[in-house]
Amino acid sequence: MTIRGGYQPFILRIDLNEETIEREPLPDEAILRKYVGGTGLGLYYLLRDGPPHVNATDPEAPLMFMLGPLTGTPAVNSSDWTTICYNLCIPYSAGIGHAHGQWGAYLKHAGFEGIIFTGQSTKPSYLWIDDDKVELRDASHLWGLDTRETERRLKLELGDPANISVACIGPAGEALLPGSMVKADRNHGAGKGSPGAIMGSKMLKAIAVRGTGTVKLAEAQAMTETAEVWEENLLASSPWLQDGGITRNYYDPWGKALRVAAKNMTDPEWGTEFARKYVEACSRWKVTPQPSYNCKISCAYDIEVTDGPYAGFVGSPCGGAENMEGAAAIIGVDDPAAIVIMTDFYDGMGLESGQFGSILGAVYQAFNDGVLNLEDTDGLDLSWGNWENAMELVDKTIKGEGVGARLSGGIKSLPQALGAESGVVDELRSKVLDVKGEGVVMHDHRQFWSVFFGELISGSGPSIQGTGADANARPELGYPETMPGVAHNMEEAIAKVKPVCDTQFAKLFADTLGICMFAVRGVEGSVDLTSKSLAQAVGWDDFTFDEGMAVGERVTNMMRLVYARRGFTKADEFDVSAKHLEPPPAGPSKGLSIEPYLPAMVDEYYRNMEWNVDTGFPTASTLRRLGMDEFLEEPALR
Ligand code: SF4
Repeated sequence: MTIRGGYQPFILRIDLNEETIEREPLPDEAILRKYVGGTGLGLYYLLRDGPPHVNATDPEAPLMFMLGPLTGTPAVNSSDWTTICYNLCIPYSAGIGHAHGQWGAYLKHAGFEGIIFTGQSTKPSYLWIDDDKVELRDASHLWGLDTRETERRLKLELGDPANISVACIGPAGEALLPGSMVKADRNHGAGKGSPGAIMGSKMLKAIAVRGTGTVKLAEAQAMTETAEVWEENLLASSPWLQDGGITRNYYDPWGKALRVAAKNMTDPEWGTEFARKYVEACSRWKVTPQPSYNCKISCAYDIEVTDGPYAGFVGSPCGGAENMEGAAAIIGVDDPAAIVIMTDFYDGMGLESGQFGSILGAVYQAFNDGVLNLEDTDGLDLSWGNWENAMELVDKTIKGEGVGARLSGGIKSLPQALGAESGVVDELRSKVLDVKGEGVVMHDHRQFWSVFFGELISGSGPSIQGTGADANARPELGYPETMPGVAHNMEEAIAKVKPVCDTQFAKLFADTLGICMFAVRGVEGSVDLTSKSLAQAVGWDDFTFDEGMAVGERVTNMMRLVYARRGFTKADEFDVSAKHLEPPPAGPSKGLSIEPYLPAMVDEYYRNMEWNVDTGFPTASTLRRLGMDEFLEEPALR
């Protein structure tokens, strides 16, 4: 075996204590072929080098930015970069975030496959990567700025705004808030696992990159031909998010399917109107798609409000709806201009709306139900839809002032922190949406139990990972038809588990490659096409679909190895807030909850994964089957 392309030869290792910068060769080829890159290689490094028992914000805890072998290549939507750290809100879990834009491709073109930070700077700093020249610089003048201004200022300072990309944190990351993101290229950001808080704990404000090189490819012409077929298949699959994300009609049916996280998930029918109003407003306003590197879809977009009191306001969201539902729908905001303003505000603060949206959703519901009053909220009227006071609450939380100081510990500590003095801890607890201590995915998936189960079982906190086949058919994985969203008996519930495993492996394989998930999900032949692209980029001529799925399975196992090391017990699998398991008040699953089926579904999932059903951990025989021999001596598995 010989690597002939795809990978750059080095990762950067930055020790912020010593202010040292080293170029470290990638692991040997056998390791690369097993874990590939992105999430896979990041978890491998975390398990190999990460101190097992430190807190996520301790200086010794690593923060990684990883690319895949297809990042920055002609492969379709080859823009993905991954953040890997320990999860701020779930102590036993890894934190894994994904982002797009140009930043990952520029880092690749600068000659690097990733960056691993450890230590803590004594003063605010930023990293400047100008092709092969890499240096740490003082960022004192940037500390306190929002992500928009940080990006703008740094690009101007460095003198070549058109060719520089900046990944940075905002005030939320500086304040180490749960859900803090790393933002890049205005429209993009990684938020799951709170990587912005880890970056803030290291006093690292930004990473600016200019990369003017190229990526060597083993079979460049063949890869281009594969990309052409892939693009054709992608466009033929009617990608929902094409040309400006949810501004298009696809969001209407989404709302009608009651998938909007509406008013803390109390009123899914209100969510239908939320979606309809937004799409209708976007049909009048100016939508400018903002594609990531080599993106054929362009879900990200800028939107200019062109009428009403906020005419002239321009927002720069990514294309899905999770950001808007978390910033607006969850607190009952349905004025379309306010939706744009709120989403942009979260992005500017560097705050992932799934995390802070869950917090504000609980607080707003408690206020509207009379559990909290003006005295509890520093006089802020938190009636549904009151978005300006939500901004004030975010601001107070970042500054640690008044009621904000009680929200800064995250969703799990919220009931005690906010309710102890007035004796409403239990009432507040009944309003909270969380999975394992982290705010939930900001869509209401209680009508689609495969998607819902995939979020509950994901090995790095609630995220869209294994979606099964009930919300969407997955012909590329052998599921040409959708399954009913809700199960009515144990047999139907158990039948959801295998598709969740299969879709999870496919998603996690794509996450090792440096490809955006919107380029593969539901796209005919996508696992074949991605496997082929990998083979042609790197020179692994015999790399197949099955091998790609095995890579995804290894990633799932590595997430569990992190769990095993850091104290997970099977009881933690069921650490889901009661409210999140409540039956929805409308729709096909009205009155039906996944909860009674969950223990059996979890056991079935463990059996499918060939894990120990009592512990939820990989067994030695599974690790051997997957060729993961380097983890056989893992003490936590003995
Ligand atoms: S589909 Fe959206 S997130 Fe994916 S690469 Fe394109 S613009 Fe970026």
